[in-house]
Amino acid sequence: MKFYNTKNIKKIKIYYIKIIYYKKNTKKMKKTLLLFDFDKTIIQNDVIHSLTLHFIPDLYNKMNGNLYKVNPWIPFNNEIFKEMKKNNVTIEQLKEKMGKFELSQNFNELFTFIKNNKEKYDVNILSAGNKYCIIKILEQKNLLSLFNNIYADNGEEDEENLIKVSSIGFLNCNYCNPALCKSLVFDKYFKGKYKNVIFICDGYNDFCLSKKLGKNDLILVKKDHALYKILYEKNGLKEIKCKISIWNNGLEIIKVLKEELKYSV
Ligand SMILES: [Zn+2]
Repeated sequence: MKFYNTKNIKKIKIYYIKIIYYKKNTKKMKKTLLLFDFDKTIIQNDVIHSLTLHFIPDLYNKMNGNLYKVNPWIPFNNEIFKEMKKNNVTIEQLKEKMGKFELSQNFNELFTFIKNNKEKYDVNILSAGNKYCIIKILEQKNLLSLFNNIYADNGEEDEENLIKVSSIGFLNCNYCNPALCKSLVFDKYFKGKYKNVIFICDGYNDFCLSKKLGKNDLILVKKDHALYKILYEKNGLKEIKCKISIWNNGLEIIKVLKEELKYSV
């Protein structure tokens, strides 16, 4: 029969592949993007600050703890790890120390809530830190599988440097320069793919992306931290189009997520 010739079978195959692809995409469209900052949001402290203070306190004290002010950020990260190596710090010691970093208050409960509602969310981390440290911390807390992806600068174990950090790009932003710009990463990987976006964050470098989000989106801002101060003490609020909630702990975030689910279709 003519119907069964290879040309027709090929057409049928393509047709079914298109249906599967369409179904997959519409499913993704219906999800909410849960986007987490890492330092001071998922964990209580800041990775680079805490490691520097613990392993090379002389350098930390010399800079009065103002590590963020160093420009450019990535070469400075490499200098820190090089200095640790000079001081005979091992990669095992680093990992052990990172394993002891604590999650923010009630984030265990928050992550259990997200696990129980996983089909509604695409859960990602977007951080100006390095991916190596983030993965090692999450692995030790059995949390790595919760996240669909981690967007951060590259980091790898290195003989000479202990950890070698390198940029993944996304640097051409006047506001975020010279660290990674979360808006540029967002535009490349997430924009237009989700029903809405919920961004859980705390820092000054979360302002750039917060300004981009639309009226169906939501930022969850950590009380009294840098982004909170930009919004409420430095007039940043007038530049925000999306909804805003303030959080002190994971239980407050769960409450907001539950509210959002009530109104989502
Ligand atoms: Zn930016």
